[in-house]
Amino acid sequence: MENQFIIDSEHLSPKALEKKHRLETDPSARKSHMEYLPGMEKIESDVCQRVMAQVDAFDYSQYTGKDVKAALEGDACSIEDFKALLSPAAEPFLEAMAQRARLETSRHFGNTVYLFTPLYIANYCENYCVYCGFNCYNNISRMKLTFEQIEHEMEVIAKSGMEEILILTGESRAKSDVAYIGEACRLARKYFRMVGLEIYPVNTEEYRYLHECGADYVTVFQETYDEEKYETLHLLGHKRVWPYRFDAQERALRGGMRGVAFSALLGLSDFRKDALASALHAYYLQRKYPQAEMSLSCPRLRPIINNDKINPQDVHEKQLCQIVCAYRIFLPFVGITVSSRESAEFRNGIVKIAATKVSAGVSTGIGDHESKYTGKELDGQQGDEQFEIADSRSLDKMYRDISGEGLQPVLNDYLYV
Ligand code: SF4
Repeated sequence: MENQFIIDSEHLSPKALEKKHRLETDPSARKSHMEYLPGMEKIESDVCQRVMAQVDAFDYSQYTGKDVKAALEGDACSIEDFKALLSPAAEPFLEAMAQRARLETSRHFGNTVYLFTPLYIANYCENYCVYCGFNCYNNISRMKLTFEQIEHEMEVIAKSGMEEILILTGESRAKSDVAYIGEACRLARKYFRMVGLEIYPVNTEEYRYLHECGADYVTVFQETYDEEKYETLHLLGHKRVWPYRFDAQERALRGGMRGVAFSALLGLSDFRKDALASALHAYYLQRKYPQAEMSLSCPRLRPIINNDKINPQDVHEKQLCQIVCAYRIFLPFVGITVSSRESAEFRNGIVKIAATKVSAGVSTGIGDHESKYTGKELDGQQGDEQFEIADSRSLDKMYRDISGEGLQPVLNDYLYV
């Protein structure tokens, strides 16, 4: 069967092409995905074991409509109830799930919807994740913003009224080291009240340093919790090390970060098991670090440059809606982010039910906020996008649309004193 993830590679040298081909076809050519690389910190924690024990035991075909009804009628949602809500047996109960989710959301978040924007400051990457447009073998325009360019992009974004920014890099320590990211956080702190990071996982002391530079929270997508599938999708680079990535949020909290965010990339593997794992990852860490702010995202695969065949397979909007409602019912206090990977129509609907945070004014390219917001290009040069977005509404438009639904858009809910 054709591997939908493998991209065109005519641009590569014969040597690189041969290495890429060997990585794709010969598992013995790949390093172990369970062994830590030099310099990676190993922490003592039972969270992974607890999450994976539940995931391994999750046979969703066993749940019935009766289990789903019981889950919806109970006051609190247990892990078993949550499993029933994620099962195919829950699909006919989507309306009832949405009503319960809506109730929980309004109980804990009122009618507020938080807005933020991502800023990609670099797109160099040392990893070969076969489904991603930034992967080291994809033929794209690479770029890393200078500090002057970063500040300029931030100024442009801040002028739009945005108060929260999520800084992203590709995963290259060599091109975007921790000091570079730290400086970007310091600059962000001048313009924004809330600063998030979505970068390669680092050690506890590095998270501490980034927090001191101004970062409030850290997002790490595990992509898939199915470690066997993970091995076949992340063929090269530090990201191959599955357990180091799993413990990233815990290291971030130990390093002093205020919040952490979790997600699987739905569509890479069995989405029901990945949804269970993502939520339990947040659940067990919340019990261990009660002061931490937790949030979940629910991205589905999107097409990338040089491969528009990539799509979320069996995770259709109905399934996505089921997952988001199940998250809300199981973890009523946890923030749920829905990114611009999803359409405006879907996002307009889901913020009325369960999602509490959406991105606006989104670009996944490098240095193109200037052109998107003002029509001018950054020194005539831009880096390519990580994936195609489905909702390109500006902050202004999102703000108006959310208000029009009778909800309250919120730009920031945190004050440093
Ligand atoms: S998913 Fe992240 S680590 Fe993997 S290739 Fe893309 S940017 Fe790099």
